[in-house]
Amino acid sequence: MQAYPMTPLPLADRYTRFRDFVFAGVAETSTKLPGLDEPLAELDLQSLWFAGAFGNEFTSTDGKRVRIVDFGVWNSGAGPDFNHCVIEIDGQTKRGDIELDPDARDWERHAHGANPEYARVVLHLFMNAPAETFYTRTLDHQEVPQVRLDLAMLHTDVRPNRGLAAVRIGRCSTPLREMDDARVHSIIESAAQHRLEKKSLRLHRSISAQGREQTIYQAISQALGYRQNQQAFMLLSQRLPIRRLKGLSAEQREALIFGVSGFLEGVKFEDTEPETRGYLRQLWQEWWRMREECARWLEPAQRPHWKLAATRPGNHPQRRLGALTIMLESWDKVSAPLMDATRWSQMAWKETLAALAHEFWSRHYTLLAAPAAKPMALVGESRVQEMLANVAYPLLMPERTRLWAEYLELPALLENQKVSRAVLRLFGESPRGTLFQKKLHHQQGLLQIYEDFCLEDDSACADCPFPERLKEWA
Ligand code: SF4
Repeated sequence: MQAYPMTPLPLADRYTRFRDFVFAGVAETSTKLPGLDEPLAELDLQSLWFAGAFGNEFTSTDGKRVRIVDFGVWNSGAGPDFNHCVIEIDGQTKRGDIELDPDARDWERHAHGANPEYARVVLHLFMNAPAETFYTRTLDHQEVPQVRLDLAMLHTDVRPNRGLAAVRIGRCSTPLREMDDARVHSIIESAAQHRLEKKSLRLHRSISAQGREQTIYQAISQALGYRQNQQAFMLLSQRLPIRRLKGLSAEQREALIFGVSGFLEGVKFEDTEPETRGYLRQLWQEWWRMREECARWLEPAQRPHWKLAATRPGNHPQRRLGALTIMLESWDKVSAPLMDATRWSQMAWKETLAALAHEFWSRHYTLLAAPAAKPMALVGESRVQEMLANVAYPLLMPERTRLWAEYLELPALLENQKVSRAVLRLFGESPRGTLFQKKLHHQQGLLQIYEDFCLEDDSACADCPFPERLKEWA
């Protein structure tokens, strides 16, 4: 794994030490990631692997040094999960396929060892393994190196998702009340820097695995997915990498994205509006030619798991895919300021996104909905803010730390339940609750404190170390 390459933000380190002191010695054995309600599914693990979230240097089960030189491509047909991979084992280069299974024994359970399609596998990855030694062998009796993955490799603060903390005023509200605004602000700003650094680290890990352009494209896709469909958008953007999409015509690109999403499969022409039928015909004209080579991804277990319940019409993933396709049409303009930090201009980037329009999706919420009376923004203000907060600044800040001043001015995002709870617990009814909710960095700092302390506390504040540690914050 390439080391975190750039200048860290100065206050982040202070909060990191503050927080690490508190959590020193806490053993974390989660099988869930923060923000996810369920244990990771096989597809999620594969997606994390491909994003480089586990790193790119490992030790095999028999003690050899394994380095991933090229993560390859997602396999859209029969056979191992990833093709065209390049790895180094103790310095020796090997080219071939990679298989990732939840359990080492899945190799035999699914008869991969007798399947010629698995003969080119150069690395077998798994999360669980039996106590006794288990060998991975191909049809030709070649032993395949094994690497056991562990969620602890992902990043240091993987913890169980604990939902929300109770709504009540916390014990820390008293010492916080006694501190002046500048000191409270310095804690929140430090926590916000710590949070931004974690986001930067994730993005730069992905860059070392997949390259900068692919990372930008994946991160933008995720932001379009909102919280509910982030994983599905991530999977789609990994299966259809930017270098492949850039080589297609606009029509092919759009058809491939909607085809691989699985949304075209279930829509019947007769259920749609006349205007939609024309659009569907245009998509199918290209998709039927590419559909066969993507057959594996259309199997129910392999499709992205779209979450549609409680999704507002404007945030429906079909509409967001429409936004993605139009962003890809202007990709050079959208990506250039993120590819090169010296070309960054917040205003120009926002204008580029605000100008995006799509003949069909600017007036439709879904493939089945009737057209809206007038065109709607495809990438609205709140999405742009979200991308600034989660893509642009975390990506660029380590390269231009002077952007922190710009980041401090970003307005708060839409109301967030966790932030509201954090404000109530830390400040009660005090006007500070309003003062420290105006800017994005306020929200980010409060979220960090809430996750690090409130969500870790099982004692109704009694044993929480935050109030006592506050006294040391000069
Ligand atoms: S758990 Fe700790 S940080 Fe959260 S409200 Fe209680 S005292 Fe404050």
